[in-house]
Amino acid sequence: MSRQIVPKQDPKVRGKNFEEVALGYTEEQALAEASRCLNCKKPLCVQGCPVEVGIPEFIAKIKEGDFLGAAAKVKEKNSLPAICGRVCPQESQCESLCILGKKGEPVAIGALERFTADQEAAEAKGKPVQVKKVNCKAAVIGAGPAGLTCAADLALQGFEVTIFESLHEAGGVLQYGIPQFRLPKNIVNREVDYIKSLGVRIETSVLVGQTVTIQELREQGYDTFFIGTGAGLPYFLNIPGENLNGVYSANEFLTRVNLMKAYRFPEYDTPVRVGERVAVVGGGNVAMDAARTSLRLGAKEVYIVYRRSRDELPARHEEVENAEEEGIIFRLLNNPTRIIGNAQGEVATIECIRMELGEPDAGGRRKPVPVPGSEFQFKVDNVIVAIGQGPNPILLRNTPGLSLNKRGYIEADPETLETSIPGVFAGGDIVTGAATVIKAMGAGKIAARQMVEYCRKNKSAAG
Ligand SMILES: Cc1cc2nc3c(=O)[nH]c(=O)nc-3n(C[C@H](O)[C@H](O)[C@H](O)COP(=O)(O)OP(=O)(O)OC[C@H]3O[C@@H](n4cnc5c(N)ncnc54)[C@H](O)[C@@H]3O)c2cc1C
Repeated sequence: MSRQIVPKQDPKVRGKNFEEVALGYTEEQALAEASRCLNCKKPLCVQGCPVEVGIPEFIAKIKEGDFLGAAAKVKEKNSLPAICGRVCPQESQCESLCILGKKGEPVAIGALERFTADQEAAEAKGKPVQVKKVNCKAAVIGAGPAGLTCAADLALQGFEVTIFESLHEAGGVLQYGIPQFRLPKNIVNREVDYIKSLGVRIETSVLVGQTVTIQELREQGYDTFFIGTGAGLPYFLNIPGENLNGVYSANEFLTRVNLMKAYRFPEYDTPVRVGERVAVVGGGNVAMDAARTSLRLGAKEVYIVYRRSRDELPARHEEVENAEEEGIIFRLLNNPTRIIGNAQGEVATIECIRMELGEPDAGGRRKPVPVPGSEFQFKVDNVIVAIGQGPNPILLRNTPGLSLNKRGYIEADPETLETSIPGVFAGGDIVTGAATVIKAMGAGKIAARQMVEYCRKNKSAAG
């Protein structure tokens, strides 16, 4: 039997709305897809999951029609299953190791995970979790997937946990970066509520490093810390014209739309100006999200400008396909050289140079090389820069003794994730650089285990 296809909204319709694109499996589809799983004795798929979900076991429960049992099985390891079922790159993780994928198509593990989480929510039957409290107090800094996972795991071990988050809502990139049409915010809030139901306190609008320091939190009685502050500081192109009106970083653009709900202006009071033609520079998930969001805000022509070829696009295949279906135009092997403004200081034209692929670089990817004299221009009203993000320095520079690497990320022990400050652990994008939701969650899990160990040792040593 072939893999069940997840139904989607029609591209012509969805390009004009912010409703979710992928609609999720029906019960019949979930049962049919689950029946494809071979229930391997040594399941390789689990090795591909950074949070070690018991994949064959939860799929076996779906086969039996025990959807709530399946959801409970997933939640033993993953506190954010509806989110992971929607945005995890399963094609390069669990599904890439599925034995069925060797000769045909792997089991759609992500779609099944999403199905179980949505079933549980629909039936509102998540079981309350009873935990024996221990005398340890943890502060988690940042409410992205790394921080949320770490907090949930610590709460399940009986810790008193508070998350400090600088924005006014929890979720990190899940809340402010990934658009509603890929990850509805009610799903994010639902999973954040689950984490709160474990006893985790979330204090929003607290910028640690400025509002309060780690040292001050220590004096308030916190025993151990997890830093999961992500990589939310946008990089720029550093080309002429980048200061013109109408140039956004993808980070600002997506935050305005997702967190501040600019797509519902004036009902919400943050506007975002999008003209008829938008060029998005970059080829990752962030670029695809910015391009597809521009389309939904009324742009008639949206371009992805990317300096390598299609094969090197770092975005998930599914998201590239979705963007193409919606009519996003890919200008590959093109690199911007300057942005030219009109008399009012607004973006009017972008100039690019054609590129070709040269020798592989240190990472094995062929390096893009400009073709001399091949500059050309086209009209645009906005340019959105989506070429990557780095670490926000506020907490880092106000935490004495915290070692950073050459790129400005936190240096943490690769096994324990402990930083140069005893009892302070770190994980997710603030350690690895921009990566994925599930990798950040995996780090949160490792750190939680180590924080339990740290408190056990230090509390008993203190008597
Ligand atoms: C637009 C976009 C789309 C993406 N799409 C995907 C995708 O489809 N699939 C996928 O797997 N990955 C995707 N990613 C990557 C993924 O979202 C990140 O790798 C992941 O969110 C990292 O998690 P984190 O917890 O380390 O950090 P974040 O999610 O960045 O969370 C960090 C949190 O810390 C808070 N914070 C920062 N500094 C402080 C401070 N000093 N005090 C208190 N709080 C602070 C921030 O406000 C934020 O809420 C995408 C990223 C972006 C930007």
